Amino acid sequence: MLRITGGQRRETGPDGEYVTRRIPGAAATKVYRCPGCAQEIPTGMAHVVAWRPYGDGGDRRHWHSSCWERRSRRSPRAPRY
Ligand SMILES: [Zn+2]
Repeated sequence: MLRITGGQRRETGPDGEYVTRRIPGAAATKVYRCPGCAQEIPTGMAHVVAWRPYGDGGDRRHWHSSCWERRSRRSPRAPRY
């Protein structure tokens, strides 16, 4: 499937594949709780939304950009190159 909308991309992390989208600060109009650090993401802060590529997207989570980056680097298993 080659259709890409809204700057989505696939990322493979230690716990599988995710689709991610960068949310600019101007579009962050709600407060979310980041699953990476359990802190709130205030409105107006650019962040990352991630969800599984399968399913209906109901599992999407909002992450701080830094928490998302840290998560993908903190691989408990051997990284695949
Ligand atoms: Zn966080």
